[in-house]
Amino acid sequence: MIENHLPTAELQALDAAHHMHPFTDGDGLAKKGARIITRASGVWLTDSEGNEILDGMAGLWCVNVGYGREELAEAAARQMRQLPFYNTFFQTSHIPAIELAKKLAELAPEGMNHVFFNGSGSDSNDTNIRMVRRYWQVQDQPGRDIIISRWNGYHGSTMGAASLGGMKGMHKQGGLPIPGIVHIDQPDWWSEGGDMSPEDFGLMRARQLEEKILELGPERVAAFIGEPVQGAGGVIVAPDTYWPEIQRIVDKYGILLIADEVICGFGRTGNWFGSQTVGIRPDIMTVAKGLTSGYIPMGASIVSDKVAAVINGSDEFAHGYTYSGHPVAAAVALENLRILQDEGLVTRVRDDIGPYLKAKWESLTDHPMVGEAKIVGLMGSIALTPNKAKRAKFAAKEGTVGFITRERCFANNLVMRHVGDRMIISPPLSITRAEVDELITRARKSLDEAYARVKDEGHWAEAQPAA
Ligand SMILES: *Cc1c(COP(=O)(O)O)cnc(C)c1O
Repeated sequence: MIENHLPTAELQALDAAHHMHPFTDGDGLAKKGARIITRASGVWLTDSEGNEILDGMAGLWCVNVGYGREELAEAAARQMRQLPFYNTFFQTSHIPAIELAKKLAELAPEGMNHVFFNGSGSDSNDTNIRMVRRYWQVQDQPGRDIIISRWNGYHGSTMGAASLGGMKGMHKQGGLPIPGIVHIDQPDWWSEGGDMSPEDFGLMRARQLEEKILELGPERVAAFIGEPVQGAGGVIVAPDTYWPEIQRIVDKYGILLIADEVICGFGRTGNWFGSQTVGIRPDIMTVAKGLTSGYIPMGASIVSDKVAAVINGSDEFAHGYTYSGHPVAAAVALENLRILQDEGLVTRVRDDIGPYLKAKWESLTDHPMVGEAKIVGLMGSIALTPNKAKRAKFAAKEGTVGFITRERCFANNLVMRHVGDRMIISPPLSITRAEVDELITRARKSLDEAYARVKDEGHWAEAQPAA
């Protein structure tokens, strides 16, 4: 442990000089200086100035069991001593990978008994692209190679995963999307639903999938991918009508369904998988993040018997990563899953802390700046608006008010992110009731301060609806 570190300003200067940050304007950060996190325990982070920060995001949606779990450190150390690395290529295997694959098959919905290991969520989705295309190729339908995904979905940052994602800002950098990936609109009723009821809007957005399939030709479409609840897009919860209709459509055309469970998996929504919460039957599930609670990188594709039979039943699937099934990562994942299970953290989200947070979270809608509050399990969002009745956007550039609010959260030692003008949370599943109370207190204080600032700076104005 680095206890006696350099002064914060020196660390910041070194960081700016040498460290290129993901999803960051480097020069902007260099001027301001990064916040430097030095340790963590439970839901609390400590920074280099000694501030205690409530982590409302579980890191990046991943520290499901909370920080400071000695058992996970022990599991890693034990495995490093016994077998720090061996690969799973060339007809070899090892015990952690075997045990973890078996465990995931047990936890996954029925009929999903096979696991392909990856290093992260992004490369798991790259695996999925290759696997579903291979699936149809083996069955003499090589033209069936298009994957349909959604605008404002997030599936990672590699060439393949960022192409599946529907983040236009990412597509602009690096020549994306790659060929064979097309997007339909997202089921975000609050900002795109207009005068429709949420139910009608959900159906309408789901039926875009059918329209797209018919436009492309069903014989061209390999798969549809979506997050059961969109995370990075702003914790967008689809209307209840949406997912049943998606399931009907993929069934009708025999198209594979990939559920990106990188955030929703491992208890986040109150079930082991988000697919169970929204009632879908995926052919492949992408997992990462909560699989190891972020203590070590690992991802996986959990694959149905149907898909695995085709892939396994053909010639070599020419794909894999050096670290597929890494023994140390697998050992940490196993211990993490044991903790989730033994401490009943998943049912706790469903029956106890989830409903507790939900009531408090939804009470934020009495704040003048908060329109809707959405929450599923322990992932929630609030929409900031200058006019709730009209679900209006701010006249200021999208994200201006969200950014101001996030700055106030930061100042109040609460990590709550903004996506445009939505504020989002996703705390560790181990958060206590007292900590939920504290989170809400800090969120409210930050909203009050942001509201005052937004008015002061002249941003309390509605955008004029498009003519
Ligand atoms: C974070 C995320 C990914 C990408 O995972 P990485 O481990 O960052 O590569 C993919 N899908 C979803 C839904 C995510 O939230």
